[in-house]
Amino acid sequence: MLIDSHAHIDYEYEVSTEALIEEARLAGVTQIIAIAAALESLDKVAALADRFPNVYFTTGVHPHDVKDFNPEVLAKMRKFIAHPKCVAIGELGLDFFYEHSDRAIQFEALKIQLDFSIEAGKPIVVHTRDADEETMRFLDEHANGWHKAHPGKIPGVIHCFSGTAKLAEFCLALGYTISFSGIITFKNAEALRAVARDIVPLDRLMVETDSPYLAPIPHRGKKNHPAHTRIVAEKLAELKSISLEKLAEHTTGNTKRLFGF
Ligand SMILES: [Zn+2]
Repeated sequence: MLIDSHAHIDYEYEVSTEALIEEARLAGVTQIIAIAAALESLDKVAALADRFPNVYFTTGVHPHDVKDFNPEVLAKMRKFIAHPKCVAIGELGLDFFYEHSDRAIQFEALKIQLDFSIEAGKPIVVHTRDADEETMRFLDEHANGWHKAHPGKIPGVIHCFSGTAKLAEFCLALGYTISFSGIITFKNAEALRAVARDIVPLDRLMVETDSPYLAPIPHRGKKNHPAHTRIVAEKLAELKSISLEKLAEHTTGNTKRLFGF
């Protein structure tokens, strides 16, 4: 029983959403978190959660799209966070690799969403790329506020982790969970595999696909599907020298504990 803790199933696929979900079920992926990213995703992921019993969703705006962040968007997030299947705020964060939105605008939208997370008591789903130092500063502030307001609860997850051992250790120390994607199957990802193997303990680990992006080997170059969560989990099980079942027990338990379902 695996959970794809991060997929963009509101995007275009070559098959229907029904087929995507059924294919996942057959691969042992029984639940999917539909992650909001672009502004137009907010309504779509909520509608998917209404339609499919095994789909949950998040509400928030990706750093690529925060140039369009405004008070109406925050009002919409407030509406969705009251939905029983809305499990987190995100994905949010910083992306200095593509920098589709100005850094100053990314900082401002991130701060608003982090404050909202603490106010709503909902964990965050963090995207970070080429922005380690700034991300650590924001996460430090979020974690401090969060632990005061919500003692004992997990503040969020660093999704699609591809950072350094230093970043992983920093995030773990603040209480965040770390999620790995198909990147850990890539040939050149030896350092990342070492982080997964040696730094992130089993009780702080999650799996995801980030579909339709980042298809694992042997599907690279194609659209990724939530069913491939299994490939990520198999790789992690191998790294941790445990069975797939044991690994899945941990990642599924961690995901449910974080998202509260
Ligand atoms: Zn994503």
